[in-house]
Amino acid sequence: MKKYFWRIFGCAMNYADAERVAQVLAKLDFVRTENLDEAELVLLFSCAVKQKAEDKIFGELEKFAQWKAAEPGRQIGLTGCVVRQTSDQAAAKKDEFLRRAASLDFVWRIEDSEQLPTLLAKTKQLPATNYQLPTTNFLAVEPLRQNRRQVLVPISTGCDNFCSYCIVPHARGRELSRDPEEIMAECEKAVKNGAREITLLGQNVNSFQKKPGAFAELLKRVAAIQELQRLRFMSSHPKDFDESVIDVMAANENIERHLHLPAQHGDNEILRKMNRNYTAEKYLDLLEKFRAKLPDASITSDFIVGFPGETEAQFENLLKFYKQADFDFAFFSQYSPRPGTAAAAFLDQIPASVKKERFARLNNLVVATTARKFARLKNQTVEVLVEKCACHSLEKGNPEKNEKCVCEGRSSEFYLTKFAGDTKLIGELVKVKITQPREVELFGEILR
Ligand code: SF4
Repeated sequence: MKKYFWRIFGCAMNYADAERVAQVLAKLDFVRTENLDEAELVLLFSCAVKQKAEDKIFGELEKFAQWKAAEPGRQIGLTGCVVRQTSDQAAAKKDEFLRRAASLDFVWRIEDSEQLPTLLAKTKQLPATNYQLPTTNFLAVEPLRQNRRQVLVPISTGCDNFCSYCIVPHARGRELSRDPEEIMAECEKAVKNGAREITLLGQNVNSFQKKPGAFAELLKRVAAIQELQRLRFMSSHPKDFDESVIDVMAANENIERHLHLPAQHGDNEILRKMNRNYTAEKYLDLLEKFRAKLPDASITSDFIVGFPGETEAQFENLLKFYKQADFDFAFFSQYSPRPGTAAAAFLDQIPASVKKERFARLNNLVVATTARKFARLKNQTVEVLVEKCACHSLEKGNPEKNEKCVCEGRSSEFYLTKFAGDTKLIGELVKVKITQPREVELFGEILR
């Protein structure tokens, strides 16, 4: 048995991809290890959404280059959104990233994963079994689950939207939807194997099969799987989000009371320059319809501050929009130009100091809004799916005894909730009474 070590960056899609790559490697007699020293292959799953994420990969590669140099035969492979061309160091046409990082042995586009056995064979890692994928449709590969309780199921890959700041359509290509029957079979099997929560994944789930209503229909079918306790989906696009999804959510209690609907900005001119194809008014109208049918559900969003040309007045519009929408929480970042995207060529880039200052102002608003909403949850009970526990021994030198653990997971509304518990609870649904709502997380006591 050969062993590999991996590091995964970026979004849930990379984790879903990694589970399929794990299956390909298992067929090649590789097993995953968490101990780098016993591995002979390192795989990195990269993210290219921001410059920082890309820089991180170079930082990691430097560390792994030392590991590789320590023993002959060690190999490093890379996939994910930074890769443009499947290739190795001997290829006539090499990927740009491969040229910039000499420690890398090969890179591959995730949709070219059927070439992984060949790439490994070329770099002398392939064992006797000359395994080939049974299909060139990578998403049809059965995933080797790393977490059988919380399961990620991609329903599509790629994106057709070309938001002007985004690298994803360039990195992952055009949108391709999976066959609904294949998705259903994967979900049913996951539930049979103990899944408590399924998350349906796509860059834009609402354009599934490019047919209005198709995603709502799929959501309804998955929600109907007997014994599925929790169902989530992400990400949604406001331009394609249709009301049939709201109706399906309202009719099915096992669909979590949470909608993540990336707005990206609250000023119409910036939204137009971002190529988002909706207005702030249309977005707010959607929220009104959503809240009319699901008044207790939470709504979270994504924002970019300092998009090229963003004036102080436009940024103020973003803040005003945030207050009007009254989001439960938001993820936000400073705009970072991605080479190859339309916005990277815009001439009116915003100075770093201005972006930083606006970022801090948005941060203050997000934290204050969430803290106000969370304060109302004191003494209420939420149901949490336990994801992990951080434990330490109370007795020095005795790691086994008197362990104290802080466990955490998400409520149905996607609120991060922490409580004193133990590792046996990982993967279980527990009731937690909120005793201390903090700024952006909840602390409570487990009810036994
Ligand atoms: S919808 Fe826009 S932001 Fe989302 S992946 Fe597609 S291009 Fe990127």
